[in-house]
Amino acid sequence: MSEKRWIPETLFDDLGFRMSFEVERVLYEMQTEHQHLVLFEHKFFGKMLMLDGATQITKRDEFIYQEMMSHVPIFAHGNAKDVLIIGGGDCGIAEEVLKHKSVKRLTQVEIDASVVEFSKEHFPEFTKPVFADKRFESVIDDGMKYVARTNRRFDVIIVDSTDPQGPGKVLFSQKFYAACQRCLTPGGVMVTQNGVPIFQPSELVSSVRKFRKLFADGSCYVAAIPTYVGGHMAMGWATANRKLRQIPARMIAERYRKAGSFSTKYWTPEVHVAAFALPRFIAEHVARAG
Ligand code: SAM
Repeated sequence: MSEKRWIPETLFDDLGFRMSFEVERVLYEMQTEHQHLVLFEHKFFGKMLMLDGATQITKRDEFIYQEMMSHVPIFAHGNAKDVLIIGGGDCGIAEEVLKHKSVKRLTQVEIDASVVEFSKEHFPEFTKPVFADKRFESVIDDGMKYVARTNRRFDVIIVDSTDPQGPGKVLFSQKFYAACQRCLTPGGVMVTQNGVPIFQPSELVSSVRKFRKLFADGSCYVAAIPTYVGGHMAMGWATANRKLRQIPARMIAERYRKAGSFSTKYWTPEVHVAAFALPRFIAEHVARAG
């Protein structure tokens, strides 16, 4: 019996640290126009997508990140009708956003058509309901070009990007955040995938510093996602409305009740509020951003 293949996550090679996954079956592997893509079966995490050596999504723990990147900004905003997702080609976040009946229109701008096509085949639990929903619009484009050109305005912008390498690098730039700010309605909120502070502190500090040049309130909230290894993951937070981060759990609970108390596996009104209580070392990074 031949040795099973192990696929390493190489994101933290420069730190001398690797997480590796024993592969049951490779479902697809190719160099796309933009990045190296491998989709495989893992005996514990189920189906997994990796792009350029970084874990993007696993069936086992995707719900944590997808719920926190969608329900926190939408319930904090309280009246989000027009939502934009940059990246997010697996449609996991889109599926969560569309649980909000108050959302009238959802646009997803993904640079790599292959990611969307594979997800239609391998993550139908997300893509089927999403592509069947009339409110959903899928755009294949570079997120930077889209926000620089569009004359539409959004109440919530969710940047579900890869890490600041390859095609994702521009999505951590000042010009990208400035273009997103231009596309937000007054009091709108932007959230971003912002890495794991224990391994990627400068990524967080640099984004929050850029947010604060554009928005009255720039910070982050956290959640722990097992396959985004390293403990807390930071989700960037940027808005002109300082109050959005201080809404009490009972008011979030009231908004959740009005939204029909749809099913979640991680997000709750209490977890929502607690996610902004940052552990001291992360709070110090955010404070360092000036
Ligand atoms: N949650 C994952 C994470 O935290 O690493 C990200 C998941 S999602 C699959 C990331 C998506 O961002 C990928 O499909 C990638 O193609 C897309 N992406 C990267 N750069 C982009 C860009 N400049 N414009 C639009 N989409 C981009």
